[in-house]
Amino acid sequence: KKWVYLFSEGDASMRDLLGGKGAGVAEMTKSGVPVPPGFTITTEACNSYYDNNKQFPDGLWEQVTEAMKDVEAKTGKKFGDPANPLLVSVRSGAKFSMPGMMDTVLNLGLNPETLAGLSKLTDNPRFAADAYRRFVQLFGKIVLGVDGEKFEHVLNVAKGDTRQDTDLSADELTEITEQFKQIIKQDAGVDFPTEPFEQLRYAIGAVFSSWMGRRAIDYRRLNKIADNLGTGVNVQAMVFGNMGNDSATGVAFSRNPSNGDPALYGEYLVNAQGEDVVAGVRTPRPISELQAEMGVVYDQFAAIAKQLEAHYKDVQDMEFTIEKGKLWMLQTRTGKRTGAAAVKIAVDLVKEGVIDEATAVSRVEPAALDQLLHPMIATAEKDRARKDGKFLTSGLPASPGAATGTVVFDPDEAEHLAKDGHKVILVRTETAPEDFHGMVAAQAILTARGGMTSHAAVVARGMGKPCVAGAGELKIDYKAGEFSVNGQTIKHGDSISLDGGTGEVFAGSLSTSEPTLTGDFAAFMEWADKFRKLSVRANADTPHDAEVARNFGAQGIGLCRTEHMFFEGDRIDAVREMIVADTLEERRAALAKIEPLQQGDFEGLFEAMNGFPVTIRTLDPPLHEFLPHGDDEITALANKMGIAPSKLHSKIESLREANPMLGFRGCRLGIIYPEITEMQARAIFKAAVAVQKKGIKVHPEVMIPLVGDLSELKVQADLVRKVAGEVIAEGGEQIEYMVGTMIELPRAALTANKIAEVAEFFSFGTNDLTQTTFGMSRDDAGRFLPLYVERKLLKDDPFQVLDQEGVGQLVQLGTERGRSTRSNLKVGICGEHGGEPSSVMFCHKVGLNYVSCSPYRVPIARLAAAQAAL
Ligand code: ADP
Ligand code: MG
Ligand code: MG
Repeated sequence: KKWVYLFSEGDASMRDLLGGKGAGVAEMTKSGVPVPPGFTITTEACNSYYDNNKQFPDGLWEQVTEAMKDVEAKTGKKFGDPANPLLVSVRSGAKFSMPGMMDTVLNLGLNPETLAGLSKLTDNPRFAADAYRRFVQLFGKIVLGVDGEKFEHVLNVAKGDTRQDTDLSADELTEITEQFKQIIKQDAGVDFPTEPFEQLRYAIGAVFSSWMGRRAIDYRRLNKIADNLGTGVNVQAMVFGNMGNDSATGVAFSRNPSNGDPALYGEYLVNAQGEDVVAGVRTPRPISELQAEMGVVYDQFAAIAKQLEAHYKDVQDMEFTIEKGKLWMLQTRTGKRTGAAAVKIAVDLVKEGVIDEATAVSRVEPAALDQLLHPMIATAEKDRARKDGKFLTSGLPASPGAATGTVVFDPDEAEHLAKDGHKVILVRTETAPEDFHGMVAAQAILTARGGMTSHAAVVARGMGKPCVAGAGELKIDYKAGEFSVNGQTIKHGDSISLDGGTGEVFAGSLSTSEPTLTGDFAAFMEWADKFRKLSVRANADTPHDAEVARNFGAQGIGLCRTEHMFFEGDRIDAVREMIVADTLEERRAALAKIEPLQQGDFEGLFEAMNGFPVTIRTLDPPLHEFLPHGDDEITALANKMGIAPSKLHSKIESLREANPMLGFRGCRLGIIYPEITEMQARAIFKAAVAVQKKGIKVHPEVMIPLVGDLSELKVQADLVRKVAGEVIAEGGEQIEYMVGTMIELPRAALTANKIAEVAEFFSFGTNDLTQTTFGMSRDDAGRFLPLYVERKLLKDDPFQVLDQEGVGQLVQLGTERGRSTRSNLKVGICGEHGGEPSSVMFCHKVGLNYVSCSPYRVPIARLAAAQAAL
């Protein structure tokens, strides 16, 4: 079996087999771009290694040694030959890039003999000593599993407070390397291997092993990447960016990945190697300065970037190294970008004629739009904070979005606090892959060191989290648990706010403001709308929500939960009076107080939706949520109502349910107390008449919740229609309305053909339908559901991602059966799932008319619906 492919044998189409990095270097090699020679060990070999009890599969090693001969021939160097030593890097590379999640060893092949040879050959003992120091450090950490901090510590002691790594002399580096070897001997219990092929064999095994390392597993879980893809291993001749001041290493994007600006964007470091740029060892310089410093190389690089972008028809993220004035390309991949950049780049590429509108629409991940829909800190708010002396510092705008939270320095603590529901901002000098779990947990990340392509920046952008990187004025004291900046000290646990789009950092919690849909974003969404078949509505309970939803392009309200209106202000008192009323008269009296308030709310909604349909659900209160809890609250309410507290107490006691979610709620309430439904219907239709008299067309859709049997719906629908008839006749306006039901019980889905005799529309309430289908309480599933997902008993949390196999089947079947009775039955979905991309795609597939989701997710649903139709 062929386990090994020379770079000259592969191409971009072989990502599955060679991994993204291997396919990328192969494609570059094929296109004539200068790439150091090398070869890729396939992902199949990695999987076979795991199937094989962590042994190399048969033939792999022979193919590796064979391929090494080819690299020797192409470079004219020999592996292990002191006279002219070949050094290689051993690099991991899976199908999907996992930045910093797996490991790379550089300068492999060095030992005391080849070191002496390299030193003599290059006439540069310092360079050789530096290369050796790096190799021993990386090999010790990655292959032999020694704690990297120990090496860092030695290095930091040697550098002292003021010097950088480039200031270390050859002798110092040699001394440091000796200390590294001692640490390795102590910790790993082995002598540092000197035989180059032995080093190579170990390193390949270590890359295979890193696939199942904690960081890699965490990353895959977060990004929903399968565990069985395996990683490729790339073995490649080294080129050296650390040979002096005519050498450099860098990374660059063909366009700005943060805001989409169409200009080369990146950073480089002179006299540096490999990961120095990413690791934030020194703060790198912007790529534009390379133009002044090494004009010819810069132009060559810019041309290659253009060539690769045109070739792949998308933004490229590239690594390069300059060895003594000669440019080498080491990696290219599709650039990860923020949601904002994704939209701008897609729009620009269409304008440049590189891709068409459909491709543009398919390019942007719906979930990535979330970042554009995040709150931001308004300029006025920032000005105010500045006046109050709350401005702390600014760093690089590494990943956009505003965030506030309390300062935490330790990633483990960030994880714990976040689990308990705290909003934290992780503050670090720099981040490393070990900190990943803390970054996942934090609202945002702030670092003192590192550039736009530092680990913190790359990872934050990938997660769509705000990040300010390289805020160089921060002085972090981990021990004291505080940082100081510009004369202010911020302690662990204090609140700060940051704007990852501008890099500003403030003390305290600043208030954030609403995002808008304008410019490129608006244009892009219009393209999406050309393709989609599903309508997108919003779940909105207040005129303000409705307004937001309209601005994001909602085509109606798919769910207005009337009970949510009851929580505002002191309305709750009237509602509580209604709930605890003993007699019909008492209840009618309480309802009479509520009716005008409801009518006012509905008028606001109808006006905000300006002609679009508005679905209003009759009361579905989990009663316990409305009742007063503590003794004090009960006494206060009793006093207001003029009854004895003990009487109220026993009333509340009598309303207590063992299982409120399956209790006296939904249409059951309106059936037992028809006066409630009656009041709501009156409020709805009076509002409709009033608004329509102002010249705004109104389409109310009255929705009866939690129906299990046709008879339930019939009772309530008859009542609504009766009231509607009266109010409309009285008002003298022609109102086009519908009465329908939510489908949120399996029995309703199963008997949908009957229910559709009365219902003019269905809306699948998939939150409750998931709850009732799984028999899992939404409110209590937190104890076990996350573990189910972690242990892969369930692929996703079914309350977040629609369970297509089970709940989805009821949606599909309910739709079909409903339409068998009423062919023009309008069907939608109004659970959380209405704004979740894969669920939206499912709704498209089974022929729903619309999805309804929270106002901020409307653009996401619009895009997902478009992609479903493409
Ligand atoms: P990652 O996947 O984390 O980007 P890489 O395998 O790309 O890891 O390598 C880490 C660093 O080492 C990068 O900066 C890369 O450019 C550099 N590097 C890898 N191989 C070589 C090589 N053959 N010569 C010089 N630098 C290399
Ligand atoms: Mg890389
Ligand atoms: Mg419900």
